[in-house]
Amino acid sequence: MKILVLNSGSSSIKYRLFRVEDWLVLAGGIVGRIGEPQGEFRFNWTDAVGLARTIQADEPIPSHQEGLGRLIYALRAQGLLAEVAEIAAIGHRVVHGGDHFSAPALIDERVIAAIESCVPLAPLHNPGHLAGIAAARAAFPSVPQVAVFDTAFHQTMPPESFRYAIPEWLYTQHAIRRYGFHGTSHQYVARRAAGLLGKPLERCNLITLHLGNGASAAAIRAGRCVDTSMGLTPLEGLVMGTRGGDVDPGVIIHLVRHLGLDIEAIDQLLNRQSGLLGLCGANDMREILERVETGDDRAELALAVTCQRLKKYVGAYLAELGRVDAIVFTGGIGENAARVRACACADLGHLGIVLDGSLNALPSKEERCISAQASPIVVLVIPTDEELEIAQQTWRLVLPHGN
Ligand code: ADP
Repeated sequence: MKILVLNSGSSSIKYRLFRVEDWLVLAGGIVGRIGEPQGEFRFNWTDAVGLARTIQADEPIPSHQEGLGRLIYALRAQGLLAEVAEIAAIGHRVVHGGDHFSAPALIDERVIAAIESCVPLAPLHNPGHLAGIAAARAAFPSVPQVAVFDTAFHQTMPPESFRYAIPEWLYTQHAIRRYGFHGTSHQYVARRAAGLLGKPLERCNLITLHLGNGASAAAIRAGRCVDTSMGLTPLEGLVMGTRGGDVDPGVIIHLVRHLGLDIEAIDQLLNRQSGLLGLCGANDMREILERVETGDDRAELALAVTCQRLKKYVGAYLAELGRVDAIVFTGGIGENAARVRACACADLGHLGIVLDGSLNALPSKEERCISAQASPIVVLVIPTDEELEIAQQTWRLVLPHGN
């Protein structure tokens, strides 16, 4: 059996096809620039003799459904799908499930209506997901479709973590509260961490740090999320590529009142011009680290602000959790930037965090431990795999009884 994972945006569908038996990736790629004069169709797969192959085409793709049609054609042509019935289910990534979903959901009209009701909370994401879901239901009418939400893992947060200290009616009438994102990644690395620690997840207390272009931290007690750094939107918390994370809301009042900025300008400023980019003119951590090596002051400051914020969240979550088994780094920066990991964990020996400098510095793509043997808190690097997590959650939901 196979599971197809779709991550649909307003003009693209990223996909991956897994074989359930061993979770091998049979094919993956993107259908992009949907509805534009020049489309993009990229299809990667491994052929019968084990060679990595790619098809790339740029003819127009008028709709999401047309894009899925191309995908089915390519899967058939390469012998990866003899018939649609081989697909056990399709797992859809959905960014915002509001407080409706704390687990994956089998898609029906009710689930679609709930995803629609969250459009105001994720106007850039949920409409694209809905377009992808509609296209997949039309293209694969007999295949169960499952929605896996970025927000679901964080639904176990208690009110003291998810409520903002603002008037109650904003929560009761407008659902303004903290939701958190990257849940699929936090959940995946938490499960893997439990495996590495050799303990059931239900007995693990963890701090997971997803550091990519977007970045968030999660505090996990007994396997369940109790706090996370992102809020109503993915703007809150850590310093990110182009988002500044925590900022005094008074800054926004000041921008409106004294600089005359309108809401569009503020949106651009906070979502696209802040963070690493705002501090030093580059949003890519690799470039920043290279500039730091040359003694560039602005790059050094960007790195210092990023690491200081990380340390602040680690400290806060240590205090919230009390006992912590492991801290987990993941995402492009968490997995690769030894310098960021070293700065974020520097001088925390008195709190039980001691890195092994040489283990930390060793480049690797594998899951690994980077803390000193005597460190009371284990520090792990675990490459994230959100698509695999979506595929496995989807499979668990549709798994026929008795299997
Ligand atoms: P996204 O959130 O878009 O999925 P990624 O998880 O791929 O992003 O993370 C992208 C970030 O990871 C970029 O800032 C990039 O510079 C950083 N990164 C990737 N590889 C390295 C590396 N070898 N060293 C330092 N930073 C890296």
